[in-house]
Amino acid sequence: MSPMRLLVTEVYSTNRLRGRILSGSIRVNDSIVLAPGGQQSTVMTIKGANGKSVKTAEVSDQDTELEFTYSLPARTGNLIASADARPEFSDQFAAEIVWQSDAELLPGRTYLLESVGGKSEATVSRLKYRLDGELQIAAKTLANKEAGVVNIALTNAILYDPVSVSPSTAQFTLADRETRALVASGSIRHGLRRASNVHWQALDVDKQSRASIKQQTPRIIWLTGLSGSGKSTIANMVEKKLLAAGKHSYLLDGDNVRHGLNKDLGFTDADRVENIRRVAETAKLMLDAGLIVITSFISPFRAERDMARTLFASHEFIEVYVNTSLDVCEQRDPKGLYRKARSGEIKNFTGLDSPYEAPENAELILDTVTMSVEEAADRIIDYLNSSA
Ligand code: ADP
Repeated sequence: MSPMRLLVTEVYSTNRLRGRILSGSIRVNDSIVLAPGGQQSTVMTIKGANGKSVKTAEVSDQDTELEFTYSLPARTGNLIASADARPEFSDQFAAEIVWQSDAELLPGRTYLLESVGGKSEATVSRLKYRLDGELQIAAKTLANKEAGVVNIALTNAILYDPVSVSPSTAQFTLADRETRALVASGSIRHGLRRASNVHWQALDVDKQSRASIKQQTPRIIWLTGLSGSGKSTIANMVEKKLLAAGKHSYLLDGDNVRHGLNKDLGFTDADRVENIRRVAETAKLMLDAGLIVITSFISPFRAERDMARTLFASHEFIEVYVNTSLDVCEQRDPKGLYRKARSGEIKNFTGLDSPYEAPENAELILDTVTMSVEEAADRIIDYLNSSA
């Protein structure tokens, strides 16, 4: 039985499309792969030609509608294939062709190849022999209606199956480059060399692919400001809003970092630098996992914030200055820290006996005296949406 191949004819949404089953059959819960692209998903529902839900669908001249558990960046003309029996991908193969033009085959000349697995400029790099029934006859060219076995080299690799595996994805046509008239039809016997960039098979599971199943753009929202300026309060509100919008975020703050990863660090300048370095590296791993990461640290030194920025692409890093004056922060004193610092109980307190270097190029500046927590969070969400 041939492996399942479906040619995408229409994409309705990121996880729903219709297409023509070219070979094999498909069942609910089957693991499938998009080609090219290599993203995997699982079949959730199948609807036959009459729109009725079915458990399985087979080769048909009617389209089948599929719904997947994870979204796929599918486009019309892509193939959906069984994940455990993927089509091949190559720019060179051996094929049997039937010549269909009065102009003879010219090995070395460029033709246009078209198949369900792609389009490319193609040259017949070698005519191996002419076929006369079963007989293999040495030949330099093929005349109209003559069959032969050739090697074909492409400019761009295409997806295909050997004819012994799946005839529908092995077939191709050759056309004249100028007139576009059909000159030959053929079927691929086997690949001669796998393309060096077998990108669709060896799918890089990367930041983009992880983020795409979450339908979000990974970002770092780097909050900076004095103690009591409102970083944690705003960060919590941003997280709630992201969650409500179905976005997957993670908040890195003093509580979950200073008590674990960074519990060996104190508040000297050197330890503050190392604290921020570890936070930035952790945020980078989370960004790579596809998340929207919010960091809520005083991060008083410009050099450390700039170091953090260099770990990310420019659009990924959003520095947000929670600009609340020392006076206001001290009046709020939500954790009683200013009182302790003033009485000498805490040393190296930012704003008092340790410096805070205000950002010079923050993407956003939030004034928490004129802005409510809700407004401040909305400004961040708006920024994310407008620069997605
Ligand atoms: P930080 O994380 O920067 O140390 P917190 O968020 O823990 O600061 O504390 C900020 C305090 O200021 C909270 O008690 C919060 O309720 C209060 N606050 C008052 N107005 C605002 C505002 N507009 N934005 C953020 N916090 C505010």
